[in-house]
Amino acid sequence: MNVPLLDLKPQLAALRPRILEAVTRVLDSTGYILGPEVASLEQKIAQYCGAQYGVGLSSGTDALLAALMSLEIGPGDLVLTTPYTFFATMGTILRLGAQPLFVDIQPESYNIDPGLMAEALAGDRKNGSRVKAIIPVHLYGQCADMSRITALAAEYGIPVIEDAAQAIGAECPYEENGAVTWRRAGSMGLCGCFSFFPSKNLGGIGDGGMLTTSDHHFAEVVQSNRNHGAEPKYYHSRVGGNFRLDPIQAAVLAVKLEHLDAWHAARRRNADRYRQLFHEAGLAGDAVTLPQAVYGDIPGADRRNHHIYNQFVILVAERDSLRQHLQEHSVGCEIYYPLCLHQQECLRSEQYRRQSFPVAQQAAASSLALPIFPELTDEQLVYVVATIRRFYRGG
Ligand SMILES: *Cc1c(COP(=O)(O)O)cnc(C)c1O
Repeated sequence: MNVPLLDLKPQLAALRPRILEAVTRVLDSTGYILGPEVASLEQKIAQYCGAQYGVGLSSGTDALLAALMSLEIGPGDLVLTTPYTFFATMGTILRLGAQPLFVDIQPESYNIDPGLMAEALAGDRKNGSRVKAIIPVHLYGQCADMSRITALAAEYGIPVIEDAAQAIGAECPYEENGAVTWRRAGSMGLCGCFSFFPSKNLGGIGDGGMLTTSDHHFAEVVQSNRNHGAEPKYYHSRVGGNFRLDPIQAAVLAVKLEHLDAWHAARRRNADRYRQLFHEAGLAGDAVTLPQAVYGDIPGADRRNHHIYNQFVILVAERDSLRQHLQEHSVGCEIYYPLCLHQQECLRSEQYRRQSFPVAQQAAASSLALPIFPELTDEQLVYVVATIRRFYRGG
């Protein structure tokens, strides 16, 4: 049996006529920059995420970049974030001449640890308050502990940019002013940054991204920055870039958005089935650490985070040999992420290499993502776990 890590063909087969119709509509309109398709998707995504405004952008990376530019982050500034995420989270900080200030993650969720964040912010205050933004990442499709993160950020007066690239539609219990509500990624910080890279839960037929916010002024600044800061046309009070979402992508994404909740549900069903199969195989919690949908860390809140499983990531001690075994048996898998950001060569400064983030480094050394896409069959899920069982138990 062959089980790819991700197969987009069944999704395409089901939606092909409607996607072709959407592409043709944009083609025939001859309006190829922004326009009604982008505006309509912006409204739909904002509503879906529980924010007031959406700004369509060229990628998740450009959403982060536009957010940081709109906050005028630059040389001398620090941006507090996690060392265990996709490179774009840090790359956008560095491109603006600012520097990341890393805080380790929590082992259960792989997300930034608010307790360590509190220590880092207290330290920064003593060193002249250089932290100008905080970027929590909702890794693999599960929200970071946003109640504590936004409370701390408010205490220090620092804006929060949610890197929600992997987490569109992920929900968590959120405490604000003593009340707990159920909130979606991208609705809790100043803004949320989303990616429509094809492997995300909502993926385009190319690159695309979106920023959500409920701050009217901030939405306007980001809108201006995606178009070279031109206001009006050919008059530039700020330097932005070309960060515009393509209307063909917007039209296709609007078709797919209608199916997103069903796809999330299928991924969550697959995750539950994996849990059951790993328990039956006697591997869960022993050879294999399964991903957890953690509780929001709120007294009295007993609801689990609503994880959308952009990735289903296990931790295993013999990661590299298990990976090879799976590949030899035609099971797709991937390491997210083999290196922490502070270990990346592009950070030439020794100052970063000397730092240590034990939880993130442990995750980088032992994480392995298994196939979780919605259209997986039960036979495929059974085969994946049986193949892993053979690795550990033989037979
Ligand atoms: C995918 C991703 C991005 C970047 O999105 P692109 O659309 O590929 O530019 C940023 N952050 C995280 C955590 C991601 O997974």
